Amino acid sequence: MEGVHSTSVKGTGVVAGIAYAPAVWVRPRPELPKAGATVPAGEREAEYERFVAAADLVSERLLARSAHVEGSASEVLKATAGMVADRGWRKAARKAVNSGHPAENATVEATDKFVTMFEAAGGVMAERTTDLKDIRDRVLAELRGEEEPGLPEVDGEAVLFADDLSPADTATLDTDHIVALVTELGGPTSHTAIIARQLNLPCIVAVGSAISSIPAGEKVLIDGAMGTITMDTDPEASAERVRESRERAAVVAQWRGPAQTRDGHRVQLLANVAAGNAARVAAEGQAEGIGLYRTEMSFLSASEEPSVDEQARIYRKVFDAFPDSKVVIRTLDAGSDKPIAYATMTVEENPALGVRGLRIANSNEPLLTRQLDAIAQAAEGRGEGATTWVMAPMVATAREAKWFAGLCRERGLIAGAMIEVPAAALMADKLMPHLDFVSIGTNDLTQYTMAADRLSPQLAYLTDPWQPAVLRLIRHTCLIGHDTQTPVGVCGEAAADPMLACVLTGLGVDSLSAASTALPGVGAQLADVDLETCKKAAELALESVGAAAAREAVRELLQG
Ligand code: PEP
Ligand code: MG
Repeated sequence: MEGVHSTSVKGTGVVAGIAYAPAVWVRPRPELPKAGATVPAGEREAEYERFVAAADLVSERLLARSAHVEGSASEVLKATAGMVADRGWRKAARKAVNSGHPAENATVEATDKFVTMFEAAGGVMAERTTDLKDIRDRVLAELRGEEEPGLPEVDGEAVLFADDLSPADTATLDTDHIVALVTELGGPTSHTAIIARQLNLPCIVAVGSAISSIPAGEKVLIDGAMGTITMDTDPEASAERVRESRERAAVVAQWRGPAQTRDGHRVQLLANVAAGNAARVAAEGQAEGIGLYRTEMSFLSASEEPSVDEQARIYRKVFDAFPDSKVVIRTLDAGSDKPIAYATMTVEENPALGVRGLRIANSNEPLLTRQLDAIAQAAEGRGEGATTWVMAPMVATAREAKWFAGLCRERGLIAGAMIEVPAAALMADKLMPHLDFVSIGTNDLTQYTMAADRLSPQLAYLTDPWQPAVLRLIRHTCLIGHDTQTPVGVCGEAAADPMLACVLTGLGVDSLSAASTALPGVGAQLADVDLETCKKAAELALESVGAAAAREAVRELLQG
């Protein structure tokens, strides 16, 4: 496919699919104002009003755009508009103007203050700094009478390139023309990736500085599964690959569960959710139930622990979306990239290796038991076929597994553990006798196996669940699961990758849980292969020298 002279740049593929079109770049961000100018005292009130007028206009524009799009795109725009209206941010700007700074400088100063705060909080909050800088740039452009930064108008098809896409940009993408997204920064959980998944646009993130070698107007072939951007490819062969990929997308859209391989081997497909609305969306799709309900996501901005009743009310929203099905609910995975004010320690040298997940309960067992009480309360009276499975994150030892399972069983709950610490995988024979099920969290299992921060764009080549080292830990877990008759699921991003789903099935995984939009792609791929081929794919991947080789070997086996 790639010609002799073709050149490729590689990033992390987050949404599969092929596209072939010229590159367009988002309009550059405005230059930040220089320090120095002072507004005379008598003009400061008017200067602040100038800031307010610009901010109001930006907010109104975002809201108007939110009315023209649907779903999470509209929510993102509303949330961004809400940030422009934020009283704290405006107050900080007023303070800066009152001390003599022009509106442009005050905009930057107020934003910097919040960026520093968000960065200090880390994790999910730190990812939101892109939103803040986006607002700053829009207001700056408005103050100067410049065009709003962001998306260019495009005629015909185009692949959109950017350093990082702001939520407002991704939310209003013109999908009649934009056929793929590529960013220098970002990661599998960035806004770009989330929206691309929702729109089903091939998407590659974390390309790094090599992205600048791709000029606007250059025709590029994008492979969202492999994460490659290739220039100088043969136009006809490239167009053929796009046709094949679109045919595949049509097959995927038609796919209906329950999932099984061509020869009838069942694999349960479940959805990952963070709240009731996502669970309701999942229930309308092909999910057979919920495989991971990340409860901590509901409490990221809570300053106090919600009461048992209040928690139960929140959890019930998810249970109600699947009244007669299996729901796997995870106890608080606070800490590290998901700090929760009332649960986590404030300062730790290495939060990813610190007191996170189940470890918080070592010094605060009542926090865990109150959550289990709330889960038991929310699960009361669920339908006939419903099962409520509860699992703990970051379990590392058999002792922790036994302790957690005991607390669950006291409340009549089915007890499990996530396998996301390599020690838990290696000691699976000692953990599993205490548990009713396990679920492999490949995101953290990969991070800890490869000793590479899952949020680092520079290390995306290491934090790749195709790493054979990770797959070997999964194989071991499945073997022990089989011996002890303990169901083994996978609920990390690996479960969303159709080719990797074949490998996981071949390794003996019973259920796969991923974003509900990813499930038809996985189900359609499994329907195309038999169990023997999955086992062969697993062998090839396990014996590969690295992640790229594993992916390539399996691609060759499955696609010929
Ligand atoms: C994982 O680590 O794979 C997982 C599913 O948990 P989270 O992504 O919420 O850490
Ligand atoms: Mg995890």
